[in-house]
Amino acid sequence: MNVQISRDRAKRSPRVAIIGAGMSGILTAIELQKAGITDFTVYEKAAALGGTWRDNTYPGLCCDVPSHMYRYSFEPNAEWSRRFSPGAEIRAYFEGAAKKYGIESRIRYNTEITRARFDNGKWHLECGDRALDVVDIILSAAGVLHHPVYPDIAGLDDFAGAVFHSARWDHDAPLDGRRIGIIGTGSTAVQITADLVGKVAQLSLFQRTAQWVFPQANPAFSEPEKDVFRNEAGAMDTLHAALTRLFADTFGEAVIGDEEQMKNIEDACQANLDRVTDPELKARLTPDYQAACKRLIVSDEFYEAIQQPNAELVADAIERVEPGGVRTADGRLHPLDVLVLATGFNGHSFMRPMDLTGRDGVELSDFWAEAATAHRSVSLPGFPNFFMLVGPNSPIGNFSLVDISEKQLAYIMQLIDLWRDGTANEISAKGDAMMAFNATIKDAMKDTVWVTGCQSWYLDKNGNPAMWPFPYDKFCADMTAPNLDEFDLVS
Ligand code: NAP
Repeated sequence: MNVQISRDRAKRSPRVAIIGAGMSGILTAIELQKAGITDFTVYEKAAALGGTWRDNTYPGLCCDVPSHMYRYSFEPNAEWSRRFSPGAEIRAYFEGAAKKYGIESRIRYNTEITRARFDNGKWHLECGDRALDVVDIILSAAGVLHHPVYPDIAGLDDFAGAVFHSARWDHDAPLDGRRIGIIGTGSTAVQITADLVGKVAQLSLFQRTAQWVFPQANPAFSEPEKDVFRNEAGAMDTLHAALTRLFADTFGEAVIGDEEQMKNIEDACQANLDRVTDPELKARLTPDYQAACKRLIVSDEFYEAIQQPNAELVADAIERVEPGGVRTADGRLHPLDVLVLATGFNGHSFMRPMDLTGRDGVELSDFWAEAATAHRSVSLPGFPNFFMLVGPNSPIGNFSLVDISEKQLAYIMQLIDLWRDGTANEISAKGDAMMAFNATIKDAMKDTVWVTGCQSWYLDKNGNPAMWPFPYDKFCADMTAPNLDEFDLVS
């Protein structure tokens, strides 16, 4: 099809709903404004912005993607305190961006879109039993890791002390001098362990599966280093580009089959593990699967923390929780005052539980009954003018999601331009284009590390990773411009 994106026709102004005021929702609002689309509202189910950086406030929280990479391309920040900055700083960064670009006043808090229905060319939004808005376009920026997984362990409700999920941290629960139990050994648990071990009386880390841990120092930026960022034009952009390139060429290639790059990661993880001196503890900490099969953990501090005299790695299975602590399968009771559930998230819900009804009454719950799939992560056949940020098969993992969101949004904005210039009133992916895209994804997935035999949140209920199995550069190329042959354009 030879549909040209017409730049000179008069532009219509759509009414837009953005769902979610996290990193990608704020980004979307800023970019809409820049493009001259001012009639939009950001709907946020919580009482504050920040997404994952609002929900997660656990001790030791930091981003294991370098700060100068984990930022908006148009909003460099010379003041990052460390190579991997703490969570509170990242949250303040997104709050600052929302304020600077005038987005705060555009957010409607405590407003969860529970249902959206496409009817007669418009999306009708509901919040509970209330009709909320009628819009031309929905941009879903609902995030990936926002539904906490609570473990199904007998007796959990009987625990006498404080018990909470890591993403719902109870800051009223005293920790100093207490006995803390942490269930889980993912990125979250590792950061909590490293932070808390020096503060608490006893730390028991309940491990179901050992994890590979990639070593990375986290030095603070010195004032002279910050001065370079403050004063030398382009210094931060150069660093951003260099870090992105480095990730793409090393980790990004390793996970999709580059054996040499994978060997480097394995060697680094093994060298990190070799810091554990007690052979019995080291054996329990040694995974029986390939590094990076699960989402790779990054920490220079974990092995030191778990070797402290007040720390214990409990690898016996949990039998039940009792009022006084956790009972393991060997019959031992581990007495605890506080129990932290660092048991992760359901990464396959996306904007659900929102009900979405597309053209001709097609329901998202039916469309996604088997698996959450989308065309190039952003568009769903039969759901016109509905676009997703960080949807299924986005390059998640150890990449910067900020960069991923920006590229997806730039692609989506070109589709929105077709609506604005009147080329089309309804834009959605063609079903056969999505099927062809998904077939290439499935085929390429065979060569990735994620299917080499481990359990992880990357895998959906069918065992398929919700990941991007190609090089980063292919993602960039694919997101440069939409191939309009892949889309239904209805005038
Ligand atoms: P996670 O990686 O999914 O880890 C959950 C942990 O809980 C696993 O060790 C799992 O064991 C364990 N678990 C779950 N249910 C259990 C049960 N019933 N009994 C015992 N153990 C149980 O979750 P996460 O650590 O919260 O991390 C999730 C993701 O968030 C990360 O992969 C990452 O993408 C992101 N994150 C990023 C950062 C960052 O710095 N950028 C920091 C934290 C989190 P199994 O391994 O046996 O399943």
